[in-house]
Amino acid sequence: MRRDVFTEDHEIFRAQFRRFAEREIEPKIARWNRDGITDRETWRRMGEAGFLGPAMPEAYGGAGGDFLYDAIVMEELAWRRAHGLMTAVHSSICMPYIATWGTEEQKRKYLPPAIAGELLLGICMTEPGTGSDLANIQTRAIRDGDHYVLNGSKTFISIGQLGDLFIVVAKTNPDATPAHAGISLLLVEATRPGFVRGRKLEKLGLPAQDTSEIFFQDCRVPVANLLGKEGQGFKMLMEKLQQERICIAVSSIASCRRALHDTIEYTKQRHAFGKPIAAFQNTQFTLAELATEVEIGQAFVDRLLAAHVRGDDVVMEASMAKWWTTDLQKKVTRECLQLHGGYGFMLEYPIAMDYADAAVQSIYAGSNEIMKVIIARRMGLPGA
Ligand SMILES: Cc1cc2nc3c(=O)[nH]c(=O)nc-3n(C[C@H](O)[C@H](O)[C@H](O)COP(=O)(O)OP(=O)(O)OC[C@H]3O[C@@H](n4cnc5c(N)ncnc54)[C@H](O)[C@@H]3O)c2cc1C
Repeated sequence: MRRDVFTEDHEIFRAQFRRFAEREIEPKIARWNRDGITDRETWRRMGEAGFLGPAMPEAYGGAGGDFLYDAIVMEELAWRRAHGLMTAVHSSICMPYIATWGTEEQKRKYLPPAIAGELLLGICMTEPGTGSDLANIQTRAIRDGDHYVLNGSKTFISIGQLGDLFIVVAKTNPDATPAHAGISLLLVEATRPGFVRGRKLEKLGLPAQDTSEIFFQDCRVPVANLLGKEGQGFKMLMEKLQQERICIAVSSIASCRRALHDTIEYTKQRHAFGKPIAAFQNTQFTLAELATEVEIGQAFVDRLLAAHVRGDDVVMEASMAKWWTTDLQKKVTRECLQLHGGYGFMLEYPIAMDYADAAVQSIYAGSNEIMKVIIARRMGLPGA
C-alpha cells in the first residue's frame, strides 16, 4: 500500500539521502563492521549535508522540520544495514533533550556543532547493576560550590567511544523519596578530567556500534551543565523515551522489509528438487505470512508517526509498536534465515547478521517486558 504519512518534501529529502548513502555510507559499512566503530568523517559529512538533526530549529542550524525527516534517515540506514551510524541516538534522542530543556546558552553551545556532525552525542542511563529499574541508579552528582562532583559507572553506552558530549543520568539527591525524585540530567563533555572511557564491548550483533563502558571518577561538572531542573531528570526521561521507542519501531520495520526483500530474491534463484525454493508452497506461505505482518506493522507505525508529529499522547501506542515490531523482526529474521538453508548460517550472507542484530531490539530502549508493564498501567490494570 502506498504510504501516506510523508509529504512530497519528505520524499525529496529521502531521495537526497539515498544518493548520499550510496556514495558516502554503503562503501564503508563492511569496514565499520570489521573495525567495530564508524568514523567521525562520515558523521561530519552527514551533518554538512543536513542529515543530522533535520528536525532541530533553524536558529541552531537545523532544518526546522518534523520527526518524519529523522524517521526517513533511520529507515534508509536500517534498509542498508548501516546500524553503526546511530542517528537515532544522536539526532532523535539526545538533541531533543537539549532543544527542549537546554538553556539558551546550552542550546547555542551544543546544538550547532552536533547538527554539523562535529560534536557527537550519547546518553548514559544504564549501569552495571541496573537498566530497567532506572530509579535505582547509583551514579552520584553531589554539589560542591558551583560544580557537581560526579562518580559512578555506566555501561552499554552507544557511541561510547566516539561520543563528545553525554547526557548523564545521576542522583543529585541520593536520599530523595521516592528515589526517582533525586535524579537529574547533566551534560558532560568527554574532555572533562574524571570522564573515563572503558572497554568497547564485544557483542552478538550490531558490530559497528561502539557500545561502551563509561566511568566518572570525581568528575567536576559545572552547575551550568545541569539540563533542566534538579530532581526533574526522571520525568524528563519518561517524556523523551517515547520518541526513542518510536525510533526502534521505525527501524525494526525497515529491517524486516530488507530481510524479506533479500529472502524473496534468494529463494527465487536457489533451486532444489528441480525448481526454485520459492516455488514450494511452504516457502510461499511463509513469505506471504511475513509480508502480511510487515504490512500490518508498517500501517501501525505510520499511524503512530502521524499521531506523534501531531503531538498526540502516544505513550501506550509507542510501547505497543516497540514490542510488537521488534518481536516481529526476530520472527522475520528467524524465518528468513531458515529459508536460506545452510547459507543463512554463514556470515557472508546478510541474513545471518540480520538475525543476530535483531536480538537486541527487544532489549534496549526499554525492554519489551517493560513496554507491556507500561501498556498494562495505561489500561488501568490492578497492580500495574
Ligand atoms: C547494544 C546496546 C546499546 C545500548 N545503548 C544504551 C545507551 O546508549 N544508553 C543507555 O543508557 N543504555 C543503553 N543500553 C542499555 C539498555 O537500555 C538496557 O540493556 C535495557 O534497558 C535493559 O536493562 P538491563 O540490561 O539492565 O536488563 P535488566 O533490567 O536487568 O532486565 C533483565 C530482564 O528482566 C526483565 N525485567 C526487568 N524488570 C522487569 C519487570 N518490572 N517486569 C518484567 N520483566 C522485567 C527485562 O525485561 C529483561 O528481560 C544499551 C544496551 C545494548 C545491549
